[in-house]
Order: sequence, then C-alpha cells, then structure tokens
Amino acid sequence: MRVIVAMVGLLLLLSVVACDAEQTNTKLATSTETSDLEDAGLPSNAGLPKSLIEIKKDADLKLYEWDSNERQRLSTYSLNLSGLMLLPVDALSPLTIWNESNRTHQYGQKATIFEIRRAAYFTALMAADCSAVRAADISDSNGATPSDAAGLRHPVGAHLNGYSADLSYACFEKSSGDYRGLAWTFYSLLESAYVASILTAYKSEALALITDWYNKGIVEYEAVVRFTNDLWQDTTLNHDYHMHVNSTTREGLFTDPSNSYYRCYSAQVTSVGTIWKRISC
Ligand SMILES: [Zn+2]
Repeated sequence: MRVIVAMVGLLLLLSVVACDAEQTNTKLATSTETSDLEDAGLPSNAGLPKSLIEIKKDADLKLYEWDSNERQRLSTYSLNLSGLMLLPVDALSPLTIWNESNRTHQYGQKATIFEIRRAAYFTALMAADCSAVRAADISDSNGATPSDAAGLRHPVGAHLNGYSADLSYACFEKSSGDYRGLAWTFYSLLESAYVASILTAYKSEALALITDWYNKGIVEYEAVVRFTNDLWQDTTLNHDYHMHVNSTTREGLFTDPSNSYYRCYSAQVTSVGTIWKRISC
C-alpha cells in the first residue's frame, strides 16, 4: 500500500513540474513573438511565425518546393555543358525575375541559385507586406559575362560562371526610406559562408537597422559584423537600385580591367582599386 501511495505521489509531482515547464515555454514564446518583432517595425498582422529560428527553417524547407512544371522544364534546359543551372522561377517561389529578357542571363552555380532563393523566401517571411525580391543577371548559359547587342552588360570579370548575381531591393522605393526588405535580404545572404560580399548604395542605412535589431535582441552580433565587413558601399554602378552579390569564388574578378569599357562606364585603375566612371556616350 505504501508503495502505491508513493508512486501516485511521484506521478502527481511529475505532472505539476511538466505543467510548469509548459507554461514557462509558452510565456517565453509569446513575449518574443510580439514585442521584439513589433519593435523592429514589422507589421503585427503579417502572420509571422514565432521566432527567427522558425522563419529560417521555413525558408530552408521552401527551397525544395519547386512546382512540377518548373521541375520538368528545368530538367530539359538547365543542364548545359558549363554545368550551370537556369534560375527556377515557379508558382511556389517569391523570387521573381526582373524582366523576361533577363532570363537568358540567369544561369548560375547551384549554390548561387539556392542562396538567392533562400534569401527571397526569408525576406518574404520577415517582411510579408513588401514587394518580392526580383532576380536580374547572373551569367549567360556558357558562363560568360552577360552581353547583348549593345555589348557587355557588366564590367569585365563580373558575373562570370554563375558566381555572382544581381537582385532587386524588396520593399524599397528610393524616397520611402523603408530599408527593412533589403536588410533582411542582406541578412539571409550574409548568413551563408558562400556569400563573400554584397555591393550596395545603402550600407549605412542597412547597418543602422541591423544594429538596432541586434540591440533589441532580435539578431546575433555576427550579423552586425558581417554587415560592417561584407557590405561594400558603391554608388558608381547603379547599385542604388540593385544589389550585386559576390560568392567566395572570385573567379575573373582579378582580371586587369585597364581600358575596359562597358555600356557608358570606363575603368580607371587607381591606388584604391578600380573605379568605374560614367562617361558620355
Ligand atoms: Zn552585378
């Protein structure tokens, strides 16, 4: 009899402890979900999942959710001699293309394709009210720097063999001052060791925002470090309306650009590196 009483007592004690733990977890999840995200300027009605970790998991999982039409189309077109893959654009992806003519310049390394898709998903989840991320040039199907009848579309050495890509700034109008979309895209891309640097005209604005989110406990300090080191301020190559993402493979980027010319820019090699100057044309 004593043994039975002792066992019942133990069961009761365990259930009370379990109940307490459950209540504590619920409280923690609720406080993270509401105050921090709302403080970060995120809309409370955006249907955000509970935590940044959950959102990252969702973005990872969605990478593999290509619709069947796109899968079939890609199996026909994506494998080419240079081993590059055509950027998939399907009904399940928030990553859209800048315009149809870009499609012939959207061949990339698999890792490049996956990183920009993940960043687009993540941005859509974090800033659900924003416009979608749009992809522009990556490389031509043979790995060459994209070119058209007017000549090279990028500086010599850039956009070679699918290792770099151009993306739009989500949720961004030049005069709106809303930098949430582009900051979350930078954040997702810079989480990857595959991404080396991003050229943008809005480094200081993005850095201020990520520092604010760090101070509020939303993102880790590593994000501030990577924004500081790996966002490269650039206003000379139209990076006020698109970002340029460089992978760690810097193939072609060390090509001597002396006397190089593309569109209305000309390369000038200076003591601080190459500067692309707009010229009359
Ligand atoms: Zn570019």
